[in-house]
Amino acid sequence: MLRRQDALSFPWADVPAPGEAREVAPGILWARLPLPFLLNHVNVWLIEEDNGWTVIDTGCVTPDIITTWSRLLAGPMRGLPVVRVIATHGHVDHIGLTGWMVERFDADFLGTFAEWVWARISHTRDVPGSSPAHETYLARNGFDDAAVAQQVSTRHRFMDLATPLPGWISEIRDGEVVEFGGRSWDVIVTRGHAFEHASFYDPVGKVLIAGDHLLPKISPAIAVYEMMPKGDPLGDYLASFPQFDCVADDALLLPSHGSPYVGIRTRIGELREHHRRRLDDTAAFLRKPRNAADLARKMFPHVEGPENTGFALGETLAHVNYLVRRGIVADNSPAGPSATYQTIG
Ligand SMILES: [Zn+2]
Repeated sequence: MLRRQDALSFPWADVPAPGEAREVAPGILWARLPLPFLLNHVNVWLIEEDNGWTVIDTGCVTPDIITTWSRLLAGPMRGLPVVRVIATHGHVDHIGLTGWMVERFDADFLGTFAEWVWARISHTRDVPGSSPAHETYLARNGFDDAAVAQQVSTRHRFMDLATPLPGWISEIRDGEVVEFGGRSWDVIVTRGHAFEHASFYDPVGKVLIAGDHLLPKISPAIAVYEMMPKGDPLGDYLASFPQFDCVADDALLLPSHGSPYVGIRTRIGELREHHRRRLDDTAAFLRKPRNAADLARKMFPHVEGPENTGFALGETLAHVNYLVRRGIVADNSPAGPSATYQTIG
C-alpha cells in the first residue's frame, strides 16, 4: 500500500482540447492528438526555437490528426516552420506522420537507429518473410487459422496508418547530449517497450520527456513480437529503471499518454510491483500446462477484438519468456511448431 505522500501529482488538471496547446514548462507546449484506438490520444510536445519548432512525435495518419496538426500549425505554432522532428520510438501512434512532417518542412529528423529500422520494416507491407514469421509465431502460440488470418489483416491496417519514413536519420545514442529549445537534454535510451526508446532529460530545468517508457496511469505495453519470439522485453524493461536514477524526484515528467506528472520514484515502484504480481500470476496459471493464447485469456479475461488480442498475447509472452529464461517455467517443446509452457517444480 502506498503512503499518502507517495502519490503522484498532476500539476495540470485539464487536458488541451484538439488543436490547442498548453505551456507546461518555459517554451514547451503540450498538445494532444486523437487516436482511433482504445487508447484514444497521444501527447506531442512542441518546443519553441528561434526559427520555428522542434516537434516530439507526430501521431499517425488519420483525417482527425491531420486536421489537428493544421490547427496547431496555424494557431499555437503561429505559422512558423517545424525545423526538427524527434521520434521517441517507432510505434505507429508516435512516428506515423513523421515522414510527412519531415518532408513538408524539410526538417531535421532525430531518433535512434533501431527504432528507425524497426519502423521502416514494421510499417511497410510485403517485406519478405514478415507475414510467414507472424503466422508461425501466432500458430505456435495457439491461434487457429481464422485467428491467424484476422491478426495478420489487423497488422496490415496498422501499416496504413504510417507515411514512409525518411531514408536517412540524424542518429541519437544513449548518453549523448542534444540541444533543442535552448536546453541541453541527456538522451536516455532504454529497451523493453521498444528496442531503442529515447527519453530526454533536462537536469537544469528538471523536465523529462518520457515517451511511452514511464506512463502515469497505465503500464506501457511490454510485449514479445514475432521478429524476436524468444526475446525478453520484460527483463530489459525492469533492468532499465536504474537508467533514470539521474532524474530528480521532483522533475516534471512529460508522458506520451496521460497527463504530465511528478513522482518518478513512486511510479517506477508501482510499475515494478505491477510486473512482479503479473509474474506471480503467470507462474500460478502455468502450474497446469497451457499454450500462450490460453494463458492470455486467463491473464486478460476482458480483452476483446483482434487488435487487443494481439497485444494480450505479446504481453503474456513477455512474462512467460522472462520466467523461461530464469528457469521458473519450461517451454515444453522449444523447437516445435506448437508451444506449451509449464511452471517447473
Ligand atoms: Zn509505444
